[in-house]
Amino acid sequence: MGCGHDHDHEEFDERGKLIVPDDVQDAIRTLIRWSGDDPTREGLLDTPARVARAWREYCQGYGEDPAVHLSRVFEEVGGYDEIVVLKDIPFQSHCEHHMAPIIGKAAIAYLPTNRVVGISKLARVLHGYARRLQIQERLTAEVAECIWNHLEPRGVAVVIEASHACMTARGVRTPGVNMVTSRVMGLFRRDDKSRGEVLKLMGY
Ligand SMILES: [Zn+2]
Repeated sequence: MGCGHDHDHEEFDERGKLIVPDDVQDAIRTLIRWSGDDPTREGLLDTPARVARAWREYCQGYGEDPAVHLSRVFEEVGGYDEIVVLKDIPFQSHCEHHMAPIIGKAAIAYLPTNRVVGISKLARVLHGYARRLQIQERLTAEVAECIWNHLEPRGVAVVIEASHACMTARGVRTPGVNMVTSRVMGLFRRDDKSRGEVLKLMGY
């Protein structure tokens, strides 16, 4: 996915804080005014710059290619040919329809052929895609496809369970509702028994 701005030419102030251009701050002041408050009152004076920096952080995935985390693989796997599972990986993202938080956890599993990665790398792939404006279905698919393409495993399964603030805090206001999405590829897709086994290991 292309990135809309140039992260290589960011400027920082004398305290090392990212300098936020005036037009970006003005946009946030406009939103504050539109929401019903006065952006010139004292408590809100520094808010536009803070919000802007926070959004750079929420969306720092645009500045990276998550596949880089899968470039260092271990080929000496000692004959290990069973499923590898990483469960309950917490993550945060933002929905592209409301720019509201998506907060949840993911389970990622794969069946290696001859390559494995350090398990923290699977979480890094997730965060690389989560730190963008997303929909949960695409996030799930992107994580699965990245692992499928770069580790060339026999199977991949990704299950994401998350709550969407655009649903829990506004609109129909249904706190406690989670959305579950999954993407299953390779052997886990073709073979019912393997799929059952992997989903059970993942806690589903
Ligand atoms: Zn939304």
